[in-house]
Amino acid sequence: MSITKRSESMHAFFEGFVHSGTTLKELVNQFDNALRNKVKVEVTADFNSINQTIPCISPFGIEKQFQMIYTNAKFKEVQEEVLGLILCNCTLVNTKGYVSTFDVLDQISIDEGHVKNVHYSVYYNEEECEFKCMCALFEMRGIFCRHAFAVCRMKKINALPEKYILDRWRKDLKRRYTLVKSSYDDLQGNADARR
Ligand SMILES: [Zn+2]
Repeated sequence: MSITKRSESMHAFFEGFVHSGTTLKELVNQFDNALRNKVKVEVTADFNSINQTIPCISPFGIEKQFQMIYTNAKFKEVQEEVLGLILCNCTLVNTKGYVSTFDVLDQISIDEGHVKNVHYSVYYNEEECEFKCMCALFEMRGIFCRHAFAVCRMKKINALPEKYILDRWRKDLKRRYTLVKSSYDDLQGNADARR
């Protein structure tokens, strides 16, 4: 997430809780209320995710894997990448030992009716089942990108290892443990930034 995006979302998060002219004690209470509300909203999202399943849009095994594990909101982000696969054309460039390099040609829409062809290099280590794409979507936003999906499709990989499934977006119990902690970390980070 970009810094602006992050501060915007933090702003939205505190909106309605923090007013000018508050004392420190009031502010602490408001922080606490804001945190409780955030956790409540996320737990509701978890509950909804467990009770409503969004249908898969492809016969791709990895999409199914994320459907079973991720909250609905995050699964939708994964689906955007699955959908983007339609515009990706993958070719093998070379193989050295366990590492293969692929070129993925993607068509990115720049404005209405205009597309730009962009090449991405994807490295795939067969021994570690590890993917590295130049677009760095996974490193930046934690979402497995369409280019790495294109390599999976070519290599007929139907499930990803655990390292690509992030605990914070799981709809099962495992996620609850990280939820409260990460919310406190967010608040702490915000408080540090203010200082
Ligand atoms: Zn990529």
